[in-house]
Amino acid sequence: MKAAVYHCPEKVRLEEVPLPRIKEEEVLVRVKVALTCGTDRKLYLRGHPLFPPPFILGHEFAGDIAKIGKGVKKFKKGMRVVAANSAPCHHCFYCKLGKEELCENFFIRLSGAFAEYIAIPEPIVRDNLFEIPKDITYQEAVFLEPLACVIHGIEESQIKLGDTVVINGAGPIGLLFLQLAKLQGARVIITDLSKGRLSLASKLGADKVLNVTQVKDEVKAVRELTEGKRGADIAIEAVGSPEVWEKTIAMVRRGGLVNLFGGCSPKTLIKIPTNLLHYNEVTIKGVFHHTPDYVRKAFALICDKSINTESLITQQFPLQKIKKVLELTTAQEGLKFAIIP
Ligand SMILES: [Zn+2]
Ligand SMILES: [Zn+2]
Repeated sequence: MKAAVYHCPEKVRLEEVPLPRIKEEEVLVRVKVALTCGTDRKLYLRGHPLFPPPFILGHEFAGDIAKIGKGVKKFKKGMRVVAANSAPCHHCFYCKLGKEELCENFFIRLSGAFAEYIAIPEPIVRDNLFEIPKDITYQEAVFLEPLACVIHGIEESQIKLGDTVVINGAGPIGLLFLQLAKLQGARVIITDLSKGRLSLASKLGADKVLNVTQVKDEVKAVRELTEGKRGADIAIEAVGSPEVWEKTIAMVRRGGLVNLFGGCSPKTLIKIPTNLLHYNEVTIKGVFHHTPDYVRKAFALICDKSINTESLITQQFPLQKIKKVLELTTAQEGLKFAIIP
């Protein structure tokens, strides 16, 4: 089969590789659509300790079951399916604590979707593989994993009806946050440096958009958009930049909550004023990944067509154009790209 194989930073080649073999409890999926994601960009640019090269890129995908192992009961050949990229072990300290996103045995971090076929390991078949209903397209279903992460982010943000939420970053993740925050009855301010992304944010329901290239002090500008310049009730970082992390913290009101969602480069640090934490009683938290419960909720929202995902796919390319796709992702042009293997 054809696959986009990563060898070292910025070296990805389209190659002919053997079809993945499946074990008794596993499923082989013929990929119909795969999406690019910020993680692919990072992997392409600097690799990852969890994925020794050569490996196949891509972890967001939907497709058809091409083959099932003898032990698989829940699925049949030919079913249209979508899967998340991991599943927890259910027996480690963190799983028992109910924090499955921190599972110690998260050995299953699936990669390999930028290929014609992908094998789904047993834990994912067990927890996080779903049959796509007839009226849902592959392009809609494929948002399962990013949406599950953002649902986790939303649940941890504790938004109440009428709260003012500021979201820094109007990329795919920021725009999913926006839609979910609106579903929760929030008033949403969203910031970015791209005019195109902000105009899409307005279409998707943002109450205020702020182009950070047009203001001197974005913290002040956001505060001015809140009642009495008090600051936002909840501030969410969806960029993954230490500088934006610090600004996000400065945008929240006394007693507010800060959700630092965007993952930054390894070894980066931020500074937080101690007085802000103490006298202003600000809560600052990091939120990471998803759990089977969030994946299930994401699947339900997709099936209900509650989220506009269509506008988050900038363009579609055949797998042969993988180099072009990675160039566009590296240049941070557009939102998500759909790859059709
Ligand atoms: Zn992803
Ligand atoms: Zn575990």
